[in-house]
Amino acid sequence: MNLIIKNASNIITCTDSISDGVIENGYIIIKDGLIKSIGIGTIPSCLCDGNTNIIDAKGQTVIPGLIDSHTHLIHGGSRENELNMKLTGVPYIDILESGGGILSTVRATRELSKEQLKDKSLKSLNRMLIHGTTTVEAKSGYGLDFDTEIKCLEAAKELKLEHPIDIVSTYMGAHAIPPEYKDNSKGYIDFMCEDVMPYVIENGLGEFLDIFCEKGVFSVDESEYIMQKAKDMGFKLKIHADEIIPLKGAELAAKMGAISAEHLLAVSDEGIKDMAKSGVTAILLPGTSFYLMTGKFAPARKMIENGVRVALATDYNPGTCPTENLQSIMTFACFGMKMTPLEIIKGMTINAAYGIGREKEIGSIEIGKKADLVIFDCPNLNYIVYHFGINHVDKVIKNGEVVVDKGNLIRK
Ligand SMILES: [Zn+2]
Repeated sequence: MNLIIKNASNIITCTDSISDGVIENGYIIIKDGLIKSIGIGTIPSCLCDGNTNIIDAKGQTVIPGLIDSHTHLIHGGSRENELNMKLTGVPYIDILESGGGILSTVRATRELSKEQLKDKSLKSLNRMLIHGTTTVEAKSGYGLDFDTEIKCLEAAKELKLEHPIDIVSTYMGAHAIPPEYKDNSKGYIDFMCEDVMPYVIENGLGEFLDIFCEKGVFSVDESEYIMQKAKDMGFKLKIHADEIIPLKGAELAAKMGAISAEHLLAVSDEGIKDMAKSGVTAILLPGTSFYLMTGKFAPARKMIENGVRVALATDYNPGTCPTENLQSIMTFACFGMKMTPLEIIKGMTINAAYGIGREKEIGSIEIGKKADLVIFDCPNLNYIVYHFGINHVDKVIKNGEVVVDKGNLIRK
C-alpha cells in the first residue's frame, strides 16, 4: 500500500541546511515505507496508482517523526512521594539518605521482572507515539548490577521488535555507584569494563555507552578511562556532561570523538568551541531544568551562535523529568532557552538524528528517507509551539504506515 499526503498547509522538511525548508500547499508520496516524492500543489497523475491511501492535510502541518534522543525509558517505580519534600526545599542529598532518589529507583528496577519492566515501558512508548515520537534512545542505568542492567537492555531489544517506535539502546551502568561498591568506584569501573560491557556488545544489547560525568559521580579521568575501553570494544559514545559543575565534560566529549554531550548547563566557552569543531551534538534537556526548579537552563543560544548542533530531548526519567511528551519540551526550549520554533523542531528531528547516529535514515523529509512523519492539526510551524500544553498530533506515520489517527493509537 502506498500513501499520499496532499494539500498540507506546511511541510517542514528539516533538511540539514540553513534554509527554512518550509513547503506551503505541499504533498508527500510514500512507497514501501520510504519517501518517494515531495512537491508543491497538484500531484502529477503519473505518481498515483490504484492501491493508494490518500490523506488530505489541509490546514495541517507535516514534520518528520520526532526523535527523543535522551531517555531513561526502562525503570521500575515512580517518585511522586518526593514532590512535597522538593517543594519545601529538602536537599537531594537528604532525600537520598532517607532512602529516596536514584537508589530507590534502582531498588524498584531490580525488583521487577523483565515482563513487568516491558509492560511499564510499553505504556510509556504508547504515550510517546501519540505525542509524535517515532524513534527513541533508551538508556539502562537503574539496575547497575549485571543481571538488572542486562534485563533492562533485553527488555528494550524485545520492545523494539514489538512496538512501532524504533529504540536505540545505550548501556549506562556508569549512571551511579551502586551501594555494593560504595567507596570503591575503581572496583565498579573494573566490573563494568570487564564483566558487563563485553557482554552488552557481544549480544547486541547496546550501541552506545553513556556516563554521568559529574562531581561525586564519575570524574573526568574515570570517564575518559571508561570511554576509551568502550571505544576499543566498539561502542559509540555519549556523555552526561557539565550539568551542575563545569568539569570540562564537553571538552572530553570532543577529545574522545563522542557523538553527543548532554545536559551542558554549566558548559565552558572552550567546551562549546571544542564541540563545534569536533561535530559533537549537544543534546539539551530543558524539561529537567524546569523540573529541578533552579531557574537555570543550558546556554542554547550561545551554542547555536558558535555553530554547535543542538538537539532537544525529554530526559524521561522518574526523578528529574517524568514526561514522555516532546511537545512539552518544545515549551521549555522556547520559553526557557529562547530557541525559535524552527530550531526546536530541528532539535527534535534532524539534529536529534545526528545525536543518535541515524542522520542518514531519519530526521528530515527527503527522498529516500524513512517515511516517519507527524501531522499536526496546526496551520503552521509557529502555532505548534505557541499553543502549548495540549497534544497537537492528528496522525503519526511510521515506516509509511498510519499508527496514530485523530490522536489515537491504531491497535492491530
Ligand atoms: Zn539523563
